[in-house]
Amino acid sequence: MQFIDTHCHLDFDEFKGDFQNLVYRANRLGIHGFVVPGVTLKQSQTLLDFKQHNPGVYIAFGFHPYFMAEHQDGNFEQLKNLAIEHRKQLVAIGECGIDAGIENIEKQQALFVEHIKLANELSLPLIVHHRQSHHLIMQAFKQVQPKRGGVIHAFSGSQQQAQAYIKLGFKLGVGGTITYERANKTKQALAQVPLDSLVLETDAPSMPLAGYQGQMNLPERLKAVFDCLVAIRSESEFEIAEQIYASSCSLFKI
Ligand SMILES: [Zn+2]
Repeated sequence: MQFIDTHCHLDFDEFKGDFQNLVYRANRLGIHGFVVPGVTLKQSQTLLDFKQHNPGVYIAFGFHPYFMAEHQDGNFEQLKNLAIEHRKQLVAIGECGIDAGIENIEKQQALFVEHIKLANELSLPLIVHHRQSHHLIMQAFKQVQPKRGGVIHAFSGSQQQAQAYIKLGFKLGVGGTITYERANKTKQALAQVPLDSLVLETDAPSMPLAGYQGQMNLPERLKAVFDCLVAIRSESEFEIAEQIYASSCSLFKI
């Protein structure tokens, strides 16, 4: 079985020093691809070099809502130019989106719409961050409809919400959330949607799995997320692995 971690921040400082080991351990479990999202202008610039030195790494450019304070006026224009220049190196636009836990929602909304436009212009999928913001994300999608879909990162929500995203061509990012017992609604949704609408992700070093709270999350834990997904789906382990791998490759054109 082969896997792609479709969302992990392997370039973050947390992983410095132990990087080769980290990749080796993930590889041993069949995890050979890693999609590393952009979070700020400066970091997106550094991703080009990071990709070049690390086989199996695929990159995206974007402004993460967590770093709102760092996104200065004019920065998005710079990101856009960088993305146009390095279009061939990119598999997506993101991590972008709207986080209701972070202030300045209006600026987040405007920035998110700019990301959708850029993704459409470059014919790339989006990596979408959400937190208590499904309605705002949908609003933005109504304003500018994404042409190549993308991933709803760390999907949590109802089956109805899941279906609405799938209808717009999005995949649902399945991560550590489903390893928690309390995530019943999300598990139910992920058990029932079409298998080809799912991709796997860890968000490492964030979003630790159940049993690892307080620890740094690792890409090798993707296998445990997969096992949890197998437990709630009706298809065989191999069918799930094969379909998800194929979906990840076709979405990101890997
Ligand atoms: Zn992330």
